[in-house]
Amino acid sequence: MTAAVAPHSGPCVEVRDLTVSFTSKRAKTTALTEIGMRVETGEFVTIVGPSGCGKSTLLKVIAGLVRPTSGSVHLLGAAVRKAQRDIGFVFQRAALLEWRGVRRNILLQAEMRGMNRAEAAARADELIELTGLAGFEKALPHELSGGMQQRVALCRALLHRPPVLLMDEPFGALDALTREQLNTELHRIWRETGTTILLVTHSIAEAVFLGTRVEVMSPRPGRLVRGFDVDLPAERHYAEVMTDSRFGTLTTQIRELLGSAASH
Ligand code: ADP
Repeated sequence: MTAAVAPHSGPCVEVRDLTVSFTSKRAKTTALTEIGMRVETGEFVTIVGPSGCGKSTLLKVIAGLVRPTSGSVHLLGAAVRKAQRDIGFVFQRAALLEWRGVRRNILLQAEMRGMNRAEAAARADELIELTGLAGFEKALPHELSGGMQQRVALCRALLHRPPVLLMDEPFGALDALTREQLNTELHRIWRETGTTILLVTHSIAEAVFLGTRVEVMSPRPGRLVRGFDVDLPAERHYAEVMTDSRFGTLTTQIRELLGSAASH
């Protein structure tokens, strides 16, 4: 199973000198400033930073849901000027339709895009298998645990084989054990599908466990302070990674950097 990567040369995502400010009657908030970032096809980039530093805003700009105040964003070689179709988006809350079962919630993506029905159904079954939801096809959202609901959201986001998947704190509302399990599964799905992933989190451990690269942001206005390449095995198991000295060193470095950025 491979992602439908559009033919283009150059980076998958490129952000140049991006600033985003929100202006209301009462105040002007600069959420992001001087952001420059390149994400190559097939990378898994995690973005870690304190609450309110502009992580969600960065993903929304890449998705074309928020316009830059200045600077530019390119996705698959084309300037982002409106909401993008070539992406999948997973939010902290699964946002499933309560009256629809698992399979029909996943197929919502196909209905919205007018995808070929047989192809979409086959892909939904493949994803249900991949995410361990087999046997729950007809279950309603209220019959599912939080972790299973996020699996459904992940399947829905991957249904159209997007070359790029954006994930905004997807496991933030889950308990620690479920989160570990889903991290392991997401990492496997990334390896198996080849999808380029950008995931924001405020968990340093999650960022290091998942990423090929971790980008660290400063408090608002968010800047990218430093990127760390993650030198961990391609196949990652939670227990092994947690005791790997490279994991310990990286998380400590990032924690120190976040601490010093917060005090400036
Ligand atoms: P994070 O995801 O890191 O918690 P956000 O990107 O959600 O941060 O928000 C960054 C800052 O921008 C916050 O101060 C937030 O209040 C502000 N902000 C985000 N979206 C809007 C908006 N639509 N209008 C006004 N301010 C916003």
